[in-house]
Amino acid sequence: MDVVLAEKYGFCAGVRVADKLVRIAAARGQKGAIFGQVVHNESVENEMARLGFPTVHDLESAKAHEARIVFSAHGVAPSVRAEAASLGLAAIDTTCKFVTDIHKEIAQSLAEGAFLAILGQADHREVVGYTKDLDPARYRVFYRLEEVTAFDWSDIPRVKIVFQTTINSESFAPHVEEIRRRVPDTRIADTICYATKENQDALRVLCDDPAIDAIVVIGGKNSKNTKELARIAQAKKPTFLIGTAAELDVAALHGMKKIGVSAGASTPDYDVEAVIAKLETL
Ligand code: SF4
Repeated sequence: MDVVLAEKYGFCAGVRVADKLVRIAAARGQKGAIFGQVVHNESVENEMARLGFPTVHDLESAKAHEARIVFSAHGVAPSVRAEAASLGLAAIDTTCKFVTDIHKEIAQSLAEGAFLAILGQADHREVVGYTKDLDPARYRVFYRLEEVTAFDWSDIPRVKIVFQTTINSESFAPHVEEIRRRVPDTRIADTICYATKENQDALRVLCDDPAIDAIVVIGGKNSKNTKELARIAQAKKPTFLIGTAAELDVAALHGMKKIGVSAGASTPDYDVEAVIAKLETL
């Protein structure tokens, strides 16, 4: 069996740094808790717990873990950092640099008097980090185009648009156009991160290779970008979406000669390597 790995796959730079920082802390003998899933991947969550950094969903719980809290690459609102400090927690901040830059961009735009239009999902952790501490009158999160058209823009003289980092810019182009049509003084902050798109483009190259019989996509069940990879592959090739090598259905690959492999942005390298090793034994 020939195995072809996509040119871009797996962890993005931000998640790679977050993973590294926790491992460095563990190697120093520190323990702590991670505030919300560090990434949407069960293997990574279990591995972090094994290293002494289980996931918690409230800051108070971190007191039982050497009073140390890890903020994930998604970032948190300033009030969450302040609350952690008031509880006496030491923080390991793994917020992605791109996300930190967006926090700064938002603060500056509001200081300049702009109304903030955030294009993304209001309940996504990254977006909650941006909005949790803001005056609701100064911003709005839009996901569906109808939300943009139904909104009353009449009293808004100036708008700043920022994007959730992982959204697909093409899908939101009509939103930008509608906002601009209603408020001519609209500026755009280019805040989309192309890590997810790079994984998708590299997978498309595999899908267009006629010699490849099927695609294996590796990633967590809750990972939206992994599911998106599987959706792209399914349109062109027989596709197997698996979490780990143990889930690989060897019998279903019978008779196939060449397999393409990709992985979601939250899939660790060791899961990818284990699947490749298993495929190569066939
Ligand atoms: S997807 Fe982009 S913005 Fe999000 S953590 Fe990764 S590198 Fe940072």
